[in-house]
Amino acid sequence: MTFPTVGDLRTLELGSPGSMRTELNALVLAGRKTATAGLVEEYEAEDEPPEQPGERLVLVDDAGSRLGVVVVDRVERARFADVPWEFAQAEGEGFTSAADWAQAHRRFWEADGYDVTDDTLVEMVWFHLDQGIDTYAIHAGQQPDPATGAVNVPIYATSTFAQDGVGGLRTGLGTGYDYGRSGNPTRTALQECLAALEGGRHGFAFASGMAAQDTLIRALLQPGDHVVIPDDAYGGTYRLFARVLDRWGVRFTPAPLDDLAAVAAAVTDATAMIWAETPTNPLLTVADIAGLADIAHGSGARLVVDNTFATPALQRPLVLGADVVVHSTTKYLGGHSDVVGGAVIVDDAGLAETLAFHQNAMGAVNGPFDAFLTLRGIKTLGVRMDRHCDNAEQVVALLVEHPRVESVLYPGLAGHRGHDVATRQMSRFGAMVSFTVADGPKAAAEVCARSRLFTLAESLGGVESLIELPGQMTHASVHGSPLEVPGHLVRLSVGIESVVDLLDDLRWSLGT
Ligand code: PLP
Repeated sequence: MTFPTVGDLRTLELGSPGSMRTELNALVLAGRKTATAGLVEEYEAEDEPPEQPGERLVLVDDAGSRLGVVVVDRVERARFADVPWEFAQAEGEGFTSAADWAQAHRRFWEADGYDVTDDTLVEMVWFHLDQGIDTYAIHAGQQPDPATGAVNVPIYATSTFAQDGVGGLRTGLGTGYDYGRSGNPTRTALQECLAALEGGRHGFAFASGMAAQDTLIRALLQPGDHVVIPDDAYGGTYRLFARVLDRWGVRFTPAPLDDLAAVAAAVTDATAMIWAETPTNPLLTVADIAGLADIAHGSGARLVVDNTFATPALQRPLVLGADVVVHSTTKYLGGHSDVVGGAVIVDDAGLAETLAFHQNAMGAVNGPFDAFLTLRGIKTLGVRMDRHCDNAEQVVALLVEHPRVESVLYPGLAGHRGHDVATRQMSRFGAMVSFTVADGPKAAAEVCARSRLFTLAESLGGVESLIELPGQMTHASVHGSPLEVPGHLVRLSVGIESVVDLLDDLRWSLGT
């Protein structure tokens, strides 16, 4: 192997056995996490710098053709005889067992003049292709079905999986499954896709956004721990902390997350987590993710970001320093208001292990039909978000000029308190828009009742436009609490219909 420099990136030439290389490359290009092996003697003889996790490398084939840029996930060494099946499988060459892998590699390396024994050290490098978000949305975790070649991930409607003998999970492609709560290939595909989208290494899919939050919080916190939450958090998140977790000894303090000094002041010795939403539901407050990460890490806490409103198409919290990303995949990721689900994404292997244990132990998993629908929705995330944002900008332009509108909350407005931060950390400002109606709560309810194209409904993030009165609908659960939202606040989830029709409908609803 050689490592010539290409720009500021090293080049990694695949050193896999001859005819199998093409297949490996195809899997890499399909966005699957994959791996390659080298003999340690070979590496050391050539005095090559070892790969490091997080390092980006240009991947080339034998002929020197550039296959793409990969990011190294993990580097480990093992005796030749102990190379794990997990690794052999990730090499993606159709091996059916670790022994099969070893046989092929022994032949290959011996032909190259190396004397391979069971004790020979092998360096294993796990990596994934660093591609654009729209490519991940369509390909990550979604290589053609190993059994049939189906280009879409099938709905594996099964609760259990046949085993090859007692205590022996089936080996070969599609291996490692025993029971549908513990794992399902359709869910695996969704989880890998979500992880790639958020720039993390591990994704977990749940039955709903609240199930994801509950599993995450109970996996990471214990009685006596304290959490700082947004003082305008999503009502369901507040209810979980105030009325469920409170009874289990988890304490919380609401703080304005757009004020870093106030957040720092709310942190106590017991603070184990800062919980952020940005932009928030429904007040569209913007929190500085990198600033919050500094506060959290400076006090030994973790930063969790609910990225439901922005989606990874507009904002990637892990890249900005967050430890955990949560989603209601019910919203923009699913995108069509036809499925309920949730997700947690992390990069840290220790966190991932804890989450994997709790996902299985607590059991609030995403079913295969729901995982399929969510994956199908995700494929068009990028184009949908572009259109959502285009339409939202025109809706905002109408609202700011309208005499019956008192104020408009949208991070894209230069006068919005979080505009500068949003400009720094988001690629666009999203399609959730809130506004207050000048004549008060009754008039605001009338606006909601008059709309025809904007459907009066809870939820958000689907292709269709929705309108609601948070104080009486999505956020009724915070009524009477410090998080109560103004009664004359209307929230819009701007869909991807023809924008002229949306504007006409709003003019009608507002009475002009
Ligand atoms: N987080 C945010 C920001 C939300 O808006 C919602 C639901 O509206 C949730 C989490 C909860 O997700 P789910 O309804 O899928 O349980």
